[in-house]
Amino acid sequence: FDALAAFDPEISGVLLSELERIRGGLQLIASENMSSPEVLTALGSTLSNKYAEGYPGRRYYGGCAEVDKAEQLAIERCTSLFGADHANVQPHSGASANQAVYGAFLQPGEKILAMSLPHGGHLTHGTKVSFSGKWFDAVHYGVDKQTEDIDYDQVAALAREHRPKVICAGGSAIPRLIDFEFFRNLADEVGAVFWVDAAHFIGLVAGKAIPSPVPYADVVTFTTHKVLRGPRSGALVCKAEHAAALDKAVFPMMQGGPQMHTIAAKAVNFKECATPEYAQYTQAVVANAARLAEKLGEHGIRPTTGGTDTHLSLHDLQGVGVTGKDAEARADAAGIVLNKNAIPFDPQKPGIASGIRVGTPCVTTQGMGLEQMDTIAELIATAVVKGDADPENAVSREVRGAVTELVTRFPAYPRA
Ligand code: PLP
Repeated sequence: FDALAAFDPEISGVLLSELERIRGGLQLIASENMSSPEVLTALGSTLSNKYAEGYPGRRYYGGCAEVDKAEQLAIERCTSLFGADHANVQPHSGASANQAVYGAFLQPGEKILAMSLPHGGHLTHGTKVSFSGKWFDAVHYGVDKQTEDIDYDQVAALAREHRPKVICAGGSAIPRLIDFEFFRNLADEVGAVFWVDAAHFIGLVAGKAIPSPVPYADVVTFTTHKVLRGPRSGALVCKAEHAAALDKAVFPMMQGGPQMHTIAAKAVNFKECATPEYAQYTQAVVANAARLAEKLGEHGIRPTTGGTDTHLSLHDLQGVGVTGKDAEARADAAGIVLNKNAIPFDPQKPGIASGIRVGTPCVTTQGMGLEQMDTIAELIATAVVKGDADPENAVSREVRGAVTELVTRFPAYPRA
């Protein structure tokens, strides 16, 4: 680091101030986490230099003996962690892994059935602004107005009417467990491929804190940087019969050379995820999320679906008369990082939104537990309901003081 600081003080300054930003506030973005120093070491390694198009033992470049070992370890650890037939650890991101599913199973113009974005799906599940909605014909299901959970009757009706090639389950703002068996049976009935986008919750599956989609799905795509706590990247696991098609779809159809440093970091992360400590961590993430959701509810910040079974909860702010946009800004001014989020049937535009999404992967990595969730709920409620977007406002200052006290007791990346 000293050499970087001497050569490029601007960028080394950004690295240091980002570390201080992480340390100084409460990180409640549901899709973020804090990778271990071991993962970060692999990421910052010379494996970044190596071109290795192809797969272990079948490369288009010489000199791949060492990176082959890293990728082979990543594949073996990933298949073993999830009990899968096959893993591809090359996708550069969650979106790249999802592209491979389209590449393997669909021709342009063919149909996919997936969760709608405003009800908790993802951009890559057929929205018009994404390749998935521009080049494929997407039909969307949503949540039930009463339960705010997936409307399984609607899913079945749409599948029978449209007979899609692929049915997708999973999304970015789904607090509840998904009935994978229901989706499997439906996919079999209509002759569709069953794809689970487990980007958000795969870490909880790795730690066995929630049921796995792997026995049910033809293919499970995921990101490696959320609850899983690995490097910023993606991967997929699948049934043996789809291995060749998906491998070809990742490379050469969608990507060029794999990022071998990131693949090495994924291998390190999969090893971490197989430990009892990580399993305990995932149990704590879920318990913390349930408590945080409940306590926010007691402060009038209603959790949709009545709570959560996972690492995230989605909250409706209409009862306290604050928009998601204002809530995000007020929390930010008080040192609490969370995001505005559309809630199902949201009357506001997505840029304003009526809700916030909060997640517990980061604060649980810092060692916080149920008692701290009660404190965090109170701090969020104070900042969001009584606070202001001005960091100099008295409420912002007061909450920020309490945040500082909390993160000093539970530091992120503790100093040696
Ligand atoms: N799928 C889901 C459900 C996600 O939530 C995300 C990202 O948040 C992605 C895919 C895309 O992942 P990435 O940002 O790594 O492309």
